[in-house]
Amino acid sequence: MSKKSKQVIARQKRKCGNSPNSNLSFIGDYECPRWKLSNGFMDNYDLDHIIENMGLCLDCRHIKTMNFQNYKAERQKINTEFMILQTKSR
Ligand SMILES: [Zn+2]
Repeated sequence: MSKKSKQVIARQKRKCGNSPNSNLSFIGDYECPRWKLSNGFMDNYDLDHIIENMGLCLDCRHIKTMNFQNYKAERQKINTEFMILQTKSR
């Protein structure tokens, strides 16, 4: 585990960053199972996979990644449609 990850975990007291009502970007109102079941405490498997500034359990990270990819795809679609419109109006 990197030094930075350890700092993140220490700062968050081993808890998932998606605490209730935190409404994080790309996670929204997804309820963290760690917060539901064990007061936010992440297990070792989660801790081994901390990669961001915000320490998230694997479930929350999965939701975040999925939503972010949907967002990117959606944005790309809008950009493409916009470009088509511009080409047509010329
Ligand atoms: Zn979580």
